[in-house]
Amino acid sequence: MLGLMQNHPLLISSLIDHAERHHGDGQIVSRRVEGDIHHSTWGQVASRARQVAHALDAAALPQASRVATLAWNGYRHLELYYGVSGSGRVLHTLNPRLHPEQLAWIVNHAEDSVVCFDTTFAPLVAAVHAKCPTVKLWVALCDADKLPDIAVPNLVSYEAWIGTQPRTYTWPMLDENAASSLCYTSGTTGNPKGVLYSHRSSVLHSFAATMPDALNLSARDSLLPVVPMFHVNAWGIPYAGAAVGCKLVFPGPAMDGKSIYELIEAEGVTMAAGVPTVWQMLLGHMQTAGLTFSTMKRTVIGGSACPPAMLSTFQDSYGVEVLHAWGMTEMSPLGTVCTLKNKQLALDANGQLKVRLKQGRAVYGVDMKIVDAEGAELPWDGKTFGDLLVRGPWIIDHYFKSDSSPLVDGWFPTGDVATIDADGFMQITDRSKDVIKSGGEWISSIDVENIAMAHPAVAMAACVGMPHPKWDERPIVVVVLKPGQDISREDLLAFYEGRIAKWQIPDDVVFVPAIPLGATGKMQKMSLRQQLKEYVLPGM
Ligand code: ADP
Repeated sequence: MLGLMQNHPLLISSLIDHAERHHGDGQIVSRRVEGDIHHSTWGQVASRARQVAHALDAAALPQASRVATLAWNGYRHLELYYGVSGSGRVLHTLNPRLHPEQLAWIVNHAEDSVVCFDTTFAPLVAAVHAKCPTVKLWVALCDADKLPDIAVPNLVSYEAWIGTQPRTYTWPMLDENAASSLCYTSGTTGNPKGVLYSHRSSVLHSFAATMPDALNLSARDSLLPVVPMFHVNAWGIPYAGAAVGCKLVFPGPAMDGKSIYELIEAEGVTMAAGVPTVWQMLLGHMQTAGLTFSTMKRTVIGGSACPPAMLSTFQDSYGVEVLHAWGMTEMSPLGTVCTLKNKQLALDANGQLKVRLKQGRAVYGVDMKIVDAEGAELPWDGKTFGDLLVRGPWIIDHYFKSDSSPLVDGWFPTGDVATIDADGFMQITDRSKDVIKSGGEWISSIDVENIAMAHPAVAMAACVGMPHPKWDERPIVVVVLKPGQDISREDLLAFYEGRIAKWQIPDDVVFVPAIPLGATGKMQKMSLRQQLKEYVLPGM
């Protein structure tokens, strides 16, 4: 017997309809490539998204055609999120930080028909357009009189493209399982792989993201996604923000500490989301200039492990609650978020900190487990670590244009190694390829990095394993010092004593001016290992 409730498909267009109807005057603020601060509303975004849909119809673009963006976080990008997916096309967010060759490869693999780009990326478009034969239209996200002077055929300005289109449109009643957006993984190994989200997966993910023990979003928030809209849909914030009708504040291209701080203060930001490297810049700026926050209450930190020193600084010095979160492109991305359970409120500050540093509990909708090399499930004791597997309605089944499934018995192997404690708090030990294997034991590179990062002279630290004839591998720590700071190799190694088991203390410290960062702001250990290929451990 079937239930007798209405069967409305879960569609992305319903999110923008809701935001317009119930939060039409809710603000959307963007720092633009032009340098100014632009003010829009959910109502205007909805209206212009419908103009986008008309423009795509006028270009005779069939359903499921890929419309790519090469853009910073901003209101026009948000309009494309809704106009493209809402009208049944697939929004493909390109990462502009990729190498041009890789970018062209992705455009061809996705068979993008249209590319909408911020004028900052005009040189990039000029460099790659000839290698992208599927692209029929290049749309510069600017006014008609600001069209970049590049020799690219079929180039139009966004404002001219949508400007004359009607503002009314009836969103199509799509199948909720239809593809809505496409995002490629950064491809640290091999070619990038496409993750194709559906309307259903995106809407369910939005419900989950807003929950109190997830991002805890409400209509009272002023939310600043520093995480780019080309990186896993800015962790789903453009959708979840519409579901709750909060104010959205977009940083555009200016992600330096000063610009972010100014935006937070000017727009009364209550919550911000980003990777640790971005917060490093913000905290650095605030500490140097002696600044405090007036409205910031919470920050979601994910993408890589949040160093304990960062968590404490946010909480103790600035009164900002850190929500440590974990996920991946293949998971839309939300998997776990760290918030305390009722019984943990009784723990002292140190006890609570220990819990908060974990990546957290599974959000409802995500199921997870850890397994050994044979695939046998491991206990949730907070000590035993194994390969982390996940499943759920917003987790990948297949990569785009790939016949083979990455799943193992219906579970997606994340490539992360983790522990899970009796309360269900998951902690990432390492990326499986970054774990250091020393004398048959494993050393967590994250632990080694976190200790170095707790030293006041250290700005960034990366721990990598170096080949060792007796132990297989031994850890070394590669360090970038803060400006004007100094510390000797011996002093930093002494700093590890008592903070980690003796055999886990790195064998050496290598000081470098910078650690290579990938397109999503994560440390690139592959290129770091490449840079260190002549390196030999002390005494070898
Ligand atoms: P890519 O894998 O393409 O670099 P993702 O953003 O999908 O890009 O990265 C997902 C990976 O990032 C996870 O599998 C995990 O290794 C790492 N990661 C994400 N969040 C955290 C976190 N809070 N702590 C530690 N690692 C994290």
